[in-house]
Amino acid sequence: MAALLLRDGFVAEPHAGRADVLIVNTCGFIAPARDESIETLRRLAEGKRPGQLLIAAGCLTQRYGTEVVRQVPGIDGLIGTRRWMDIVEVVRGLRAGGPPAARYLLPAAETVGVDERGVVRAAVAGASAYLKIADGCRRPCAFCAIPLIKGTAVSRPLEVLVEEVRQLEIQGVREVILIAQDTTDYGHDLGLRDGLPTLLEAMLAAAPGIDWFRLLYAYPGAVSHRLIDLMASQPRLLPYLDMPLQHAHPAVLRRMRRPANMEAVRRTLERLRQAMPGMALRTTFLVGYPGETEAEFDELMAFVAAMRFDRLGVFTFSFEPGTASEPLGDTVPAEVKEDRRRRLMERQQQISLENNQAFVGRTLPVLIEGCDNSLSLGRSYRDAPEIDGIVVVEGEVPAGEIVPVRISGAMAYDLTGTVEREQRRLVVAAAAEHT
Ligand code: SF4
Repeated sequence: MAALLLRDGFVAEPHAGRADVLIVNTCGFIAPARDESIETLRRLAEGKRPGQLLIAAGCLTQRYGTEVVRQVPGIDGLIGTRRWMDIVEVVRGLRAGGPPAARYLLPAAETVGVDERGVVRAAVAGASAYLKIADGCRRPCAFCAIPLIKGTAVSRPLEVLVEEVRQLEIQGVREVILIAQDTTDYGHDLGLRDGLPTLLEAMLAAAPGIDWFRLLYAYPGAVSHRLIDLMASQPRLLPYLDMPLQHAHPAVLRRMRRPANMEAVRRTLERLRQAMPGMALRTTFLVGYPGETEAEFDELMAFVAAMRFDRLGVFTFSFEPGTASEPLGDTVPAEVKEDRRRRLMERQQQISLENNQAFVGRTLPVLIEGCDNSLSLGRSYRDAPEIDGIVVVEGEVPAGEIVPVRISGAMAYDLTGTVEREQRRLVVAAAAEHT
């Protein structure tokens, strides 16, 4: 949306009070996200000055548009999640004035195939870019509202994605982060078998200047041998994988309608670690799912202790009307859910600290994202932006550089270190030669 508006002559204004048009990209996935979206919209609506326009975009609008307008009376326009490419039309329509009928509620018509408009559909932040390879999901997870909001999975054409990666390379992007609701399902609807490795191979060949490719949101049971072999053989494919497992007790997983063969999950995790020693594994779990007993939760705790994940997130179950789990109700009390979330996170915190301590004395390439007060902040291959840790580096290094950092300190989530000057000199010289 930002790219389209900028191309049409609009100017980005980070201060809400000075902007003519306020656009909130809402999330409707779970209750806390909905509350945050409504809260943000209300705050902006209350502070609106005459003539200022407020538009609610995204998932919450898609699923509950009428309700959003009812709860936030100051909203001027709505735009659904798969109609983001109509944002210019919506803004222009609203600015031209007109009755309340000028409000837009654009439903989820087929719209993913908008690539001919030539917009790079990547969100670029500094030297990193998220690249969405598909939208929607065809998995049956009982707790999840995403298929209700977004519909089934629609993959973006391979050649379009390869071209976008080339564009990102030209823009100077160093890291491309592939995202979708389920990246391992890429290409299924295009008739590709095991399409993700095929896509990655094409991207690696097309954009040699992209240093890091990172994969998020793999589905258990869909991480193929071919994908693992490719990751192990290509240094530019980071040895990092985010595979949300949601739970470790087969009975809970069956109630969730998720892959429940924990032996197979263990084998996949072992295979990844064997193929890529030092592999960073991230996962997320859902606690307090309807009917979750203390014994089932204990099994999850034991699994986390045994698997020693590098990164781990824990969510509490959010009751979502319309999902397959609705008939199960919301049986675990809120305080029990929260207590389980806290216990799991505390267990993981110690594991995370120990994992981090193992890196002290080693040298890691770090992508620098900014500096402040003689310190630079960056990320190693183990850190996806915003969700994982950071590496705090002594001294000021230009943002966008990948530098070798000798790790000298470890905290629960973050590392500290100093740049290996000699190695950096060699890296910079090699880069200059390449240029
Ligand atoms: S794979 Fe993820 S997005 Fe798809 S239904 Fe399951 S939880 Fe939802």
